[in-house]
Amino acid sequence: MTDRKKVYLFYKKDEELEKKVQKVRELGRKYGYQQVERPEDANIIISFGNDGTFLQALQKTHFREDALYIGVNNGGMGFYTDFSIDDLERMELAMQSDNVEVLKYPTLEVTIDGLNSFHCINELSLRSNIIKTFVIDVYIDNLYFETFRGDGLLVATPTGSTAYNKSLGGAIVDPKLPSMQLTEMASVNNNQYRTLGSPLVLGKERELHLKIVQDGNDHPIVGIDNEAMGVRHNYDMKVKVSDRVVKTLRMKDNLFYHKVKRSFL
Ligand code: NAP
Ligand code: MN
Repeated sequence: MTDRKKVYLFYKKDEELEKKVQKVRELGRKYGYQQVERPEDANIIISFGNDGTFLQALQKTHFREDALYIGVNNGGMGFYTDFSIDDLERMELAMQSDNVEVLKYPTLEVTIDGLNSFHCINELSLRSNIIKTFVIDVYIDNLYFETFRGDGLLVATPTGSTAYNKSLGGAIVDPKLPSMQLTEMASVNNNQYRTLGSPLVLGKERELHLKIVQDGNDHPIVGIDNEAMGVRHNYDMKVKVSDRVVKTLRMKDNLFYHKVKRSFL
């Protein structure tokens, strides 16, 4: 049992936060948790910060399926952070374990140019990096679907649906539905270019294929969650709902819809 209690702490070092993290360490020790220095050695990875820090913790530790990720907010609570660093009592309750539940969040797998593949828990975003529009051919399961021209396209996970996707008019999707949602950023619609114009939710078995048409503006910004890909030529992107899930912990009184209500209503 003890080797299931190896914990890696992910946070940006600053003096004030360090003091608070120290208190969490002490609490952890009391319950038999052991801190490790390398994420590979951990089976629990805790991020201290905001949702953005949680996203970074996943990217930097490569979406480990055999680890449990826990988000601790340095302030309130976010979508991926079920705990607040100022509420040690709640963390202690969680360590005693009856009040928590392990959740599995769906992720997307993005393959760029048939070579590199990445996971994301919020979204893949493709945006023009110059003021001109750019063009993307969209295929669904090898069927040519539409040619998009505009600022960009976004493919969101269910948990990412409350982030960038929502700003683009996408629907909020229940994380219990493994799926991906395609939304448009300012599409040009005229007699030459026609797109669906509404968000499109695709099921787990589908594959989306986005091919950037090279007509002078073929250097988009490719965003994987909150990280911009440093690759210059990304002409071809395949996106699927991945078999890999992110395991996280939540208190039983903090459903996805508690978070939606707390944030938006
Ligand atoms: P950021 O600029 O701080 O993020 C923007 C906001 O999105 C923050 O309030 C962040 O919360 C929140 N957020 C992140 N993931 C969320 C989720 N799954 N559901 C609801 N809200 C969420 O940058 P960041 O913290 O690194 O986060 C990156 C994310 O920002 C991207 O993955 C993208 O979804 C989103 N984004 C949104 C827009 C837009 O809405 N126009 C534009 C660019 C990026 P915290 O303050 O707790 O971090
Ligand atoms: Mn942020």
